[in-house]
Amino acid sequence: MDPELRREIILDNYNSPVNKGQGTSEYIKVNTNNSSCIDNIDLWILIDNNIIKDIKFDGEACAISTASTSIMTKELIGKSIDDALTFVESFECMIDEKEYDSEILNEANVFDEIYKQANRKTCATLPYKGIVKAIEEYRSRKE
Ligand code: ZN
Repeated sequence: MDPELRREIILDNYNSPVNKGQGTSEYIKVNTNNSSCIDNIDLWILIDNNIIKDIKFDGEACAISTASTSIMTKELIGKSIDDALTFVESFECMIDEKEYDSEILNEANVFDEIYKQANRKTCATLPYKGIVKAIEEYRSRKE
């Protein structure tokens, strides 16, 4: 990805994050935090009939973590939980410099060089850990 464009997308999502706010009691709430950074984000995820209907987030976080969460909400809302998990897997492979499907990651490709800053990798993957927790919680409630 073009470095200028990458920077612009990250800054845009940091300065004007989408889906910022809090969910209602219908949402599954999870906390994600990163001891090596200021990141401490609460995520609210609304899943209905195996589809992610909505995601909201609130809290304090660095530019990378905030931008990553904002982008993630845009990409995952409307997806089935299986497609969301496939997305998360691709994203984590990208961060770990393994083979991944850049086609499905859309705007999340802006973190394709974050591996060069080892201490930022956790910031970028933080919201994805939260989504996986929420999906596990949803599945355990259904059983
Ligand atoms: Zn951070």
